Amino acid sequence: TSTTPTNMFNQGWLSGVYNEKKVPVRTRFPPEPNGYLHIGHAKAITVNFGFAKNYDGICYLRFDDTNPEKEEEIYFRKIKEMIAWLGFKPHEVTHSSDHFQRLYDLAEELIQRDKAYVCTCSKEEVNLQRGGPDNRGKRFACSHRSRPTSESLTEFRRMRDGEYAPGSVTLRMKQSLTDPTEGNPQMWDLAAYRVTANNHHPQTGDKWKIYPTYDFTHCLCDAFESISHSLCTTEFYQSRVSYNWLLEVLDMKKPKSEEMGPMQREYGRLNVEGTILSKRRITMLVNGSTFEIKNPDGTTLTKTIPPAVRGWDDPRLYTLIAIRRRGVPAPAILNFVSELGVTTANTNIQTYKFESSIRKYLERTVPRLMLVLDPIKVVLENLAEDFRQDITIPFDPKTPSGASRIVPLTREICIDRSDFREEDSVDFFRAAPGKVVGLSNVPFPIKIVSFEKDGQGRVNIIKAEKVESAEKPKAYIHWVPAQTSLPVTARQYNTLFLVEEPNSLDWKSGGYADALNPKSEVIFEKALIEPGFKELGKEKEGVVPESGASDDLVRFQAVRTGYFSVDTESTAEGLVLNQIVSLKEDSGK
Ligand code: ATP
Ligand code: MG
Ligand code: MG
Repeated sequence: TSTTPTNMFNQGWLSGVYNEKKVPVRTRFPPEPNGYLHIGHAKAITVNFGFAKNYDGICYLRFDDTNPEKEEEIYFRKIKEMIAWLGFKPHEVTHSSDHFQRLYDLAEELIQRDKAYVCTCSKEEVNLQRGGPDNRGKRFACSHRSRPTSESLTEFRRMRDGEYAPGSVTLRMKQSLTDPTEGNPQMWDLAAYRVTANNHHPQTGDKWKIYPTYDFTHCLCDAFESISHSLCTTEFYQSRVSYNWLLEVLDMKKPKSEEMGPMQREYGRLNVEGTILSKRRITMLVNGSTFEIKNPDGTTLTKTIPPAVRGWDDPRLYTLIAIRRRGVPAPAILNFVSELGVTTANTNIQTYKFESSIRKYLERTVPRLMLVLDPIKVVLENLAEDFRQDITIPFDPKTPSGASRIVPLTREICIDRSDFREEDSVDFFRAAPGKVVGLSNVPFPIKIVSFEKDGQGRVNIIKAEKVESAEKPKAYIHWVPAQTSLPVTARQYNTLFLVEEPNSLDWKSGGYADALNPKSEVIFEKALIEPGFKELGKEKEGVVPESGASDDLVRFQAVRTGYFSVDTESTAEGLVLNQIVSLKEDSGK
């Protein structure tokens, strides 16, 4: 059975986690500030913040900033912004780096307890000690493992004082490397501290020359913050053993017991297919990429691929900043995550499933208006020059008594080019010469009389007449008044790639470029929206029935066209709309 944002924590796997340890809930969302969050992170955020909220507990936002080579200020800011946008408020914002001194002291303590040693073996040597390629060989210790604790302590302080070159040394935990029965690689004497090349840290500056690893840091920070349930994704399943080991050897957890200290449990990742989530690959899409290709004759060819998107927040991407910019409302994302449910299984889902979930949400939450993407003027020749009939149309046709707006029907209106054909045919029910067609919400049909073309051979005027007909037209098309409508630029989006599995494309020598969809973005520069658009976003019952959205973006359904929102690039003079999703699956692909 599918879960909803209200019951997802009280049933299924998550309620099981709570029942295992019924204590005041304290969770954390621990991103590394090395990139923008994506749709997968929305699950981690929902799980951690939502779990705490559901059980009246608290959730920290903890920046796991132990890797100064990759971390940047902007990511700290954008991550905070996205959590607020999703509607969650951290109990406190912390950093792993807040605890660097305490972590360091515990590392010394670990050495003193003979549970860690300083090791100068190379990467290759360490691999061999762990059984070589595929871990098929016998595991063995290096000489550093048995050095006196006093020596490791001295060397560790030399590491701290910058006396070792980056990459030349580590502090290793003395786990179970030499126990032939220990099959978990997480217990094969993992590194706890390393010397990194670029030591400038966004929080602690140049203070530290050594940085703790994830395996050393995560469980200890969880303990420092008294995290009760440490929820992470299943690739950390084997880490649960090393997580508990470190806490136990430092007396911060009792062996084989969840009575004291944090409890780690693992849920399945959310993988969205049909798009690219990897930072490295999105960087190629954002910046473009260059490849040196070796020809058989020895010459090299430089292949340059231009950027495929306009930035990290391009609405065609699945970063959270892009999804927000496209106009997807935050509660729709929470619905999507809860519909998929949370278990230990990874969820692989195609982008169109995400879109249909968004569509389902928008269907019942946003007002409807008429937008004409590619307008052609229609002159209703048998109406007076100053003809005007005010038509009252509810924003939600299912609630005729709710809020409405007036659409003035005038002698000149515009319809969409796709609703007109120069030549009629039996299977076509919309506008064509000689044909009678209905206009949405207009009490009389019109008959198409003739049309004119501009210098380029494009139809630019259709002549028509109001007709008194007892027969109901076969089709009703949408329209806008020609004079009082607002000019807008409307951007329609389709999938970025023509294939279902863009991750399996050739990203090493630039082959991915051939699979880019040339129509992933279609821009309508001269679209027209009816004047009622100006009433959107005003506090008026029924106009903005959407509640719970944490932004003030204006969203609406353009009837017969798609769901749209106002883009952040819009100005008073130049309104820009983004299509959030099409009205139906497939349309526009
Ligand atoms: P990526 O490499 O895609 O950026 P990550 O694991 O490096 O992912 P972190 O910054 O470490 O990202 O993520 C913070 C939290 O979000 C972690 O607890 C991680 O398990 C979780 N998370 C990341 N990706 C997903 C996903 N696709 N589905 C669910 N949770 C995820
Ligand atoms: Mg990350
Ligand atoms: Mg990570």
